[in-house]
Amino acid sequence: MPRNLIHSDAIADYRGVIASPGAVLMNGNCIEAVGTPEEVGTPADVEITQINGLLTPSFVNVHAHLDLSGDGIAPPPDSFINWVEEIVYPIRAKGEVTHAIEQGVRMSKEGGSVIVGDIASSVLAAECAKKLLPRCVPFVELFGSGTRGQLVAEQLGHVEHAFAVQPHAPYSCGLEVYKASFESGRKVATHLAETIEELEYAELGTGAFLEYVQRLGVWDTSMKAWSEHPIDAVLKIADGAHFVSAHLNYIEDRHLPMLAQSNMSVAYCPRASVYFGHTNHRWKEMVDAGVNVALGTDSLLCLDTPDRISVLDEMRLLYKRDNADPALLFGMATINGAKALGVDASLVVLQPGETAGILAFANCHSLESILQVEVLPEWVCM
Ligand SMILES: [Zn+2]
Repeated sequence: MPRNLIHSDAIADYRGVIASPGAVLMNGNCIEAVGTPEEVGTPADVEITQINGLLTPSFVNVHAHLDLSGDGIAPPPDSFINWVEEIVYPIRAKGEVTHAIEQGVRMSKEGGSVIVGDIASSVLAAECAKKLLPRCVPFVELFGSGTRGQLVAEQLGHVEHAFAVQPHAPYSCGLEVYKASFESGRKVATHLAETIEELEYAELGTGAFLEYVQRLGVWDTSMKAWSEHPIDAVLKIADGAHFVSAHLNYIEDRHLPMLAQSNMSVAYCPRASVYFGHTNHRWKEMVDAGVNVALGTDSLLCLDTPDRISVLDEMRLLYKRDNADPALLFGMATINGAKALGVDASLVVLQPGETAGILAFANCHSLESILQVEVLPEWVCM
């Protein structure tokens, strides 16, 4: 197979523009050389492709639910619990997992990501996602508190070891499930500090989530409140383990140094936070404190882009709303996401070696310019 020499107006990754004009010499899905056209040269056996625009590595979406991609987007809810019961449960009941994941994979590629932290509602969903999107990292969701939590913790060994796990959230999983997940040596992710109601349930065992678990019929007398903020409880039980937590809409000042000293990465999903009515996310303070903050989309249901699932749209929101630095955002959407998912960050950097794909943004010349427009990237190689 001939090698492909791609010339473009500019090339950029999390470091900003590396060369303008730029050149990338590809051999299959490996970058052989990268730099200016003069630095890369023109080997004898290459095909040359000219791109009018900017080349970048592909993105990492650290938190998605591909199996919720089959029903389009949903209107914002009046409460998180109503949304789960009225929107998510009917989708789960239909059981059209394969179709939904096919849609989700297509939309993820449309949005420039093949490395996706996929929260899978079953082993079947995880298998399907992995088959269709080999670079994704499926986390199989675990649910259970009290007596049921003990059972889930004991049965964790039966989940195929290839898969990472997601103790679902503090309102749906007991600490024994978290403990067993961390002790299993698998990659672990969770939802954490997403709603005010979750904090109340963890600290006091009361409120909307108590009514919810009672309504579901899964409450039992062995279920006790954690008597502390869920971030404190989960960090304690993680005991230094590496894991990813989605959302963190509600943190206290003292959590900033705690998170920085932990091995927890934050999967910030800006549009999902807006969708559920959360404001003033402290992601910039987390970054400044030294926390690894990566970008996720959460499910398609929460998005404002019915045709794609892309952290590019998350970057664009933060750039416009929070006046965020383009290179910082690009790092969050690439290397920070790779670190969070435990995959090789060099896959999303323009340097010699294997790549998770290269994107072309027509008529763009800087990271800033791709955030100012609405254009979608084209895959140069995947
Ligand atoms: Zn989620």
